[in-house]
Amino acid sequence: MKIFLIFIFLFISFSGKAIFKSLPLSSEIQSQIIANKLWEKGCPLPLSQLRLLYMSYFDFNGKIRTGSLLVHHSLATSTLHIFQELYRQKFPIEKMDYLDLKNLRNTIAFNCRKKVARESFSLHSYGLAIDINPMQNPYIRRLPSSFTQLPPFLEFFPPESFKFQDRQQKQIGMIEPYVSLFKKHGFSIWGGDWTNPKDYMHFQSK
Ligand SMILES: [Zn+2]
Repeated sequence: MKIFLIFIFLFISFSGKAIFKSLPLSSEIQSQIIANKLWEKGCPLPLSQLRLLYMSYFDFNGKIRTGSLLVHHSLATSTLHIFQELYRQKFPIEKMDYLDLKNLRNTIAFNCRKKVARESFSLHSYGLAIDINPMQNPYIRRLPSSFTQLPPFLEFFPPESFKFQDRQQKQIGMIEPYVSLFKKHGFSIWGGDWTNPKDYMHFQSK
């Protein structure tokens, strides 16, 4: 009995401060989203279909912070489950602020944008994709080799993320140990499984 009580106390003290909640978008939040150019007229999804998640996470210094993420309403609960588990396992996230699209180290989900070099909207435009720790989990595109560029040229995004190209060399913030967690909770496609480009930061729902 005593052991049981101690266990409960530890659980409460660990999870007591944690925040995991999902909210519909108030008109004030909608205005902020438009002001920050995450959404404009012509985007395929109305803002009413999104949910704003507030979620606790550990930063790279081991400090607990509250992050925010915008996702499609159909993925709100499963996304909360994923980030609760990441928090429980103290997986470090560098930054999670749904409005700060300029910070290339930011974990984001919704962002109404066209696919690179294509006219269709990416799944981020529907809140159906998440990019996690972009610096540590880069997007890498292999460009065709030419006579002047041998071996084949690799393009990295964010640009400095080439330090994380070798996925066998484990470094803080890399997502590989949690790929199955994302897949289990509705993000069945991982960009790290693709051949070219590799998009290690990217999970999507279909
Ligand atoms: Zn992505």
